[in-house]
Amino acid sequence: MKPPSSDWQNYHQRLMKKLQGYRVLTDLTVLTALDSIPRHIFVPELPLEQAFSDSAQPISDQQTISQPSLVAWMTQLLELSGSERVLEIGTGSGYQTALLSRLVKEVWSIERIQGLSARAAKVLQQLNCQNVHLRVGDGYLGWPEAAPFDRVILTAAPPQIPKALEQQLSEAGLFIAPVGNQNETQHLLRGKKQNKTLVYQQLAEVQFVPMLAD
Ligand code: SAH
Repeated sequence: MKPPSSDWQNYHQRLMKKLQGYRVLTDLTVLTALDSIPRHIFVPELPLEQAFSDSAQPISDQQTISQPSLVAWMTQLLELSGSERVLEIGTGSGYQTALLSRLVKEVWSIERIQGLSARAAKVLQQLNCQNVHLRVGDGYLGWPEAAPFDRVILTAAPPQIPKALEQQLSEAGLFIAPVGNQNETQHLLRGKKQNKTLVYQQLAEVQFVPMLAD
């Protein structure tokens, strides 16, 4: 029997089961945190089947909510212990922000589209994410007044890693970013500081919306 449309829990459980089956997603703390974040509240206009599918989905303003397995993997790659202050560029729906909020001390998240940021703020409040600071602005500038950050994560792809953001990363920091032009293959990069220099490792081919300059 098909569940009634208000019964999102079945869809949520099915998605969580799928993610638990991915061998690359080894961090149970990340998966447990994700289990407390039902994705449909970020995309209330979508049918539940789409809201809980493991794929990027459209939100407003030609933007997307990221793919759950990729959100989980990128979060896992941040190697969080709970004490971190994290800078996120591209709040979007707030889905990645909410997951970070459950796993770190503070999240500082920048979004260039006012309407998206306002909507994310409401959902984050609904989920009781109290350690999140949102700003509407140009992510290329980062958040210098709140720097340094232990982690920086981009959820939109710039053509190159912005220097200003590298400068806002702390000494033992980690940087995760999709990088590349829209019509070319983008790569997910992870940067670690080695003797004060950020050294990047290329991890996977990905497809993100562009990180736009204002
Ligand atoms: N993590 C988000 C993904 C949003 S898509 C989610 O799961 O919902 C990427 C977001 O980056 C878009 O909302 C887009 O508006 C935003 N963005 C693009 N360029 C930006 C910039 N220069 N500064 C801040 N946000 C930017």
